[in-house]
Amino acid sequence: MSRILTEDQLAIRDKVRTFARETLGPRRLEGYGNPPFLKEMNRLLGDAGILRVFAPKSLGGDEMGVMGMVIVMEELSRECPGVALSAMMQMNIPVNMVSTPAVAERWARSALAGETTVSFASTNPAGYANYSEHPDLARREGDEYVLNGVRHFAGQGTFADVMGVSGLVNGDMHLFWLTTDQPGLTITAMPKMGVGAPWGRVEMSDVRVPAERVRDMSVLVKDRQLTDVTGASKVSTHPISAMALGLAEGVWEKTDAFLRERTFNHESLASMQALQHKMVRMKQNIEAGRSMLYDATQLVQAGQGDPVLDHLLKPFLTEMAFDVATTCMTLHGGRGYQTSEGIEIYLRDAAGLLIGECTTDMHYSTVASLLDMPGALPGSP
Ligand SMILES: Cc1cc2nc3c(=O)[nH]c(=O)nc-3n(C[C@H](O)[C@H](O)[C@H](O)COP(=O)(O)OP(=O)(O)OC[C@H]3O[C@@H](n4cnc5c(N)ncnc54)[C@H](O)[C@@H]3O)c2cc1C
Repeated sequence: MSRILTEDQLAIRDKVRTFARETLGPRRLEGYGNPPFLKEMNRLLGDAGILRVFAPKSLGGDEMGVMGMVIVMEELSRECPGVALSAMMQMNIPVNMVSTPAVAERWARSALAGETTVSFASTNPAGYANYSEHPDLARREGDEYVLNGVRHFAGQGTFADVMGVSGLVNGDMHLFWLTTDQPGLTITAMPKMGVGAPWGRVEMSDVRVPAERVRDMSVLVKDRQLTDVTGASKVSTHPISAMALGLAEGVWEKTDAFLRERTFNHESLASMQALQHKMVRMKQNIEAGRSMLYDATQLVQAGQGDPVLDHLLKPFLTEMAFDVATTCMTLHGGRGYQTSEGIEIYLRDAAGLLIGECTTDMHYSTVASLLDMPGALPGSP
């Protein structure tokens, strides 16, 4: 059942596939380290209504749930995981804004239209998921919060207009919404290996945020303890796993085309059984990943999400994609390593997916904890 898509899901898949092939594909190599290109793509995706797929109807969205998001991520990532990552932020962050009405009213719809660029900065220099060790980020002063601290690795951070920054107030998690032109805020580029543009390093020095732009998130972290490990809010693992699936499919298709064209002894490389078996083995792993992802996502969609499965997805799909990208690069010979061929970027992007949204080991720690293994503590929120 999990692989059977509804009419609406098939329609959105076809629409995004056409966008990916016709608009994004020919320019996909511009997607690395190039904020103007990513902004342009956000705008085009907004104009095409693609960024609205996940949003609730109250924001003018199509409310197609996490399965809608998964379909968009998979299709965009076939051509350019960097653009998929930007789109994921543009689709997800406005939905996050809903719990802070003053913020949602001002920016959510324009983010879904691709006009306002949004970012999220959670990672402390001390680490991401080790909240108990983070220093407080903010203190309350009357109707305002005053922020002092640093955040690393903010996707779209160097060219965002609005940014959600999470951090502790007296050991309890809060989410603060900032405009990037606020006094006291300095954002600098942190170059990285793949997946789009450099991260933003966000430095806050007495940045003032009105209380109406702050959300209490102590349901996640209270008194410096991670409180929610039920998996109920784990939709974040599905979109990034879908990026991994799309990446693997994209590089596999390009490798299939290359092997059919290239020859040895006047025969197509694709006719060599040893290479056919490599391609078929990758196909097997891609399809196993798709079954796992669609199954877990449809369960979430039906309100029957399985926390263990949700945490196992991300390790399985991202490691599969990294293996596929490595094999496909090698199957391209020297061209696989040549930047202008656009194959090695899949490997660099796949490496980023191994780490973003927490590593395999962090998710395995969470699964060990969910399975009540002795002494196990969750490693991912
Ligand atoms: C492509 C990409 C995009 C990103 N985008 C954003 C963004 O937009 N905003 C943002 O705030 N952050 C972002 N990040 C940061 C990302 O969330 C963190 O880097 C990631 O969750 C790992 O956390 P860390 O860097 O603190 O790792 P560390 O905690 O420093 O981990 C170091 C090593 O220890 C292991 N480890 C740590 N804790 C455990 C545990 N409990 N159990 C088992 N092993 C453990 C890890 O697996 C890792 O190998 C992004 C990262 C990448 C790669």
